[in-house]
Amino acid sequence: MKAHAAVRLYFDRAADRLDLAPALRRLLIIPKREVQVQIPVEMDDGRLETFIGYRVQHDDSRGPMKGGLRYHHEVDLDEVRALATLMTWKTAVVDLPYGGAKGGIAIDPKKLSAKELERITRKFTDQIHDIIGPHEDIPAPDMGTSSREMAWIRNQWEKYHGFGPAVITGKPVEHYGVEGREEATGRGVGILAYKLLGHLNRKPNQTRVALQGFGNVGSHAAKFLHESEYKIVAVGDHTGAYFRREGLDIPKMLKYSLANKGMLQGYTDADRITNDQLLELECELLIPAALGGVITAKNAERIKAPIIIEAANAPTDPDADAILEERGIKVLPDILANAGGVTVSYFEWVQNLQFYKWGLNRVRQELDSVLSRAFDAVWQEANTQRCSLRTAAYMIAIRRVKAATELAGLG
Ligand code: NAD
Repeated sequence: MKAHAAVRLYFDRAADRLDLAPALRRLLIIPKREVQVQIPVEMDDGRLETFIGYRVQHDDSRGPMKGGLRYHHEVDLDEVRALATLMTWKTAVVDLPYGGAKGGIAIDPKKLSAKELERITRKFTDQIHDIIGPHEDIPAPDMGTSSREMAWIRNQWEKYHGFGPAVITGKPVEHYGVEGREEATGRGVGILAYKLLGHLNRKPNQTRVALQGFGNVGSHAAKFLHESEYKIVAVGDHTGAYFRREGLDIPKMLKYSLANKGMLQGYTDADRITNDQLLELECELLIPAALGGVITAKNAERIKAPIIIEAANAPTDPDADAILEERGIKVLPDILANAGGVTVSYFEWVQNLQFYKWGLNRVRQELDSVLSRAFDAVWQEANTQRCSLRTAAYMIAIRRVKAATELAGLG
C-alpha cells in the first residue's frame, strides 16, 4: 500500500470512532501546501545533475509546521505527504504547539561527496527559503541528514533573511543547537519502552530486543536500552543484520559502526542473519528503526515479539496492523514512539527564540516529562475506548487539531 493511503487508513479508523464529519475529514487530510522543486547541481567531475526535492506542509492550525528532511533514493511526493501528515498527528499527540510538515530529496547520500551534498542542500534551500521560517515551517534532520545539513540550511537561509537560528532544529551545538537533540529520538524510544514494559509487567533484564536500523535513532536507542539492562540480541542496518543469543556487545558495535562510516558491514562478533529474519526473531521486543513499510501482511503472522515499538516512521502497513492487533501484539505507534526527536527540536527552537541555553539535564528531564504525559494519556484513552494504542493516539491528536481548526473559524 502507498504510504499516504496507509496513513489515511489509520486516520479514518480513529475518525470513525470520533464520528468526524466528512467535510472536516477532507479538510484535515488535504495538505495545506505541496512544493516540488528542481535542484540542478554541478557534480565534482563537472557533470550537470538535476535532482528533485519536496516540501509538504500539511497543517498549521496548532502552530508553525515542523518536520524533518529526508535524503533517500526512494523519496517521492507520496511518501513526503504521508510523513508530513504523520508529523501533524505526532506534534498533536505530544501536545507541542506545532503543525506538521516534511521534506525530502531523492538522492542516495552515501554515493555523494560532502561537497556535492552541500551544493544540493544549498540549492534546495534557495528553492524553499521563502516558505520556511521560525514562525512558519521549521525543518529538522531525518533519514540521511544530520546536524551538518542543518548548519548548511541555516547558513543559506540567513543569506536571504538575516540572523535566525530558529529556522531549523537539529543544528550542531556550536550553531545554536542543543545538547541532547542528537540522542533525543532514540532516548525517547527508551523512555517509552520503560513506561510500556512497566504497564505490561515486564522487566528490562528479561526482555530480549531485536532492533532494525543503527543510524541516529537505532544507535541511540540501542545505547539507552543496553544501559538500562535490556538484552539486545539482534541489530541490523542496510548492510545486513547481526545476532547473538547471549546479547550483543552494543558499546563495541557502536564503536565499530562509528569507525566504519556508520555501517555494521564486516562486524564479526555475532552471527550474520538477514533483515527479514531479524523481524521474525524469537524475542520480547521488536523495534523497527529504519525504513517504513517493513511489517506487512506477508510477515505479520510470523512476528514472534509480543511488543513492537515503532521507532521508524510508518513501519507497519495497515493490513499488518490488523493482524498484529488480532494476535494481541502491543504496538506503540510511530506518532508517539519516535516523538522524542521533535520534542527536543521544540526545546531547541524555544531556546533559540529566547537566546537562552538550557543544560543537558534539563533537556532530558523535560523530554521525560513530555513523553511520559503523552504516554499516560494514550494508555488511558486505549483502555477507555477499548482500542489499540495507535487508534487511541490518533484520536487524541485528531481531537486537538479539530478543536484548533474550528476555534480559528473558516471565514
Ligand atoms: P539514519 O539515516 O540515521 O539511519 C537509518 C538506518 O537505517 C541506518 O542504520 C541504515 O543502514 C538503516 N537502513 C536503511 N535501509 C535499510 C534497510 N533496507 N534494511 C535495514 N536497515 C536499513 O536515519 P534515522 O534518523 O535514524 O531515521 C530512522 C527512522 O526513524 C526513519 O523512519 C525516520 O523517519 C525515523 N525518525 C527519525 C527521527 C530523527 O530524529 N532522526 C525522528 C523521528 C523519526
